[in-house]
Amino acid sequence: MPAQVRLFMCLKDNFGALLHDPGSGKTAAIDAPEAAPVEAALKTAGWTLTDILVTHHHGDHTGGIAELKARHRCRVVAPEGEAGGIPDVDETVKEGDTVRVGGIEGKVIETPGHTMAPSTLHFPADKLVFAGDTLFSIGCGRVIEGSMEAMWQSMLKLRALPDDTRLYCGHEYTLANIKFAKTIETDNASLIAREMHVQRLIADKRPTLPSTMGEEKAANPFLRADLPEVAQAVGMAGAPAADVFAEIRNRKNRF
Ligand SMILES: [Zn+2]
Repeated sequence: MPAQVRLFMCLKDNFGALLHDPGSGKTAAIDAPEAAPVEAALKTAGWTLTDILVTHHHGDHTGGIAELKARHRCRVVAPEGEAGGIPDVDETVKEGDTVRVGGIEGKVIETPGHTMAPSTLHFPADKLVFAGDTLFSIGCGRVIEGSMEAMWQSMLKLRALPDDTRLYCGHEYTLANIKFAKTIETDNASLIAREMHVQRLIADKRPTLPSTMGEEKAANPFLRADLPEVAQAVGMAGAPAADVFAEIRNRKNRF
């Protein structure tokens, strides 16, 4: 049976997500920004929390872990390179490791840049990816702990995922990201189409996620820094892709 996902808001603009295996009844929270919205989502779905899969150590992704762990005695799985900054960790994972939630099987893709060793969690059979704060829809996370070169390499790793993979990420930033992306690629038809779709979703008070990796590859400037037209658009024709990526990321920081 295919995995089921429930998406909900936490804190100011964080997404919480539950990943449920109907076969075994197991349910994982992908990150735990705060406990109460996770509890509410569990109650609505009628699911029991068995696991918390943590993408990275930031407090707005880990603040609910201790309370949820105390109540549900769930397993907490965290990136090996960041486990010291995450409460109540039971297991650590690194690049290429397998994560199981009942019968659902995922692979860990280490995507350094936003932090030193975050886990992006890819579930190939279910065509799902949870990218934390590494990749957003039409955006990417701030490069805080890693280098621009490392973040660009992380973008390339995620760009290699199949087009029909559904993308979930840590924040509802999509509309603001689109506004910025239009300053880079002013006449990208896929970007305009995504904007129209996102505006309809927001008008209907619905989340703008998931998107698909196909949509992101066509419209997310941070995944497109090695395309000649994107380098040209920022006045860097012929420059290394990581430098073009850095220029776009720096422009976004000032936007
Ligand atoms: Zn973060």
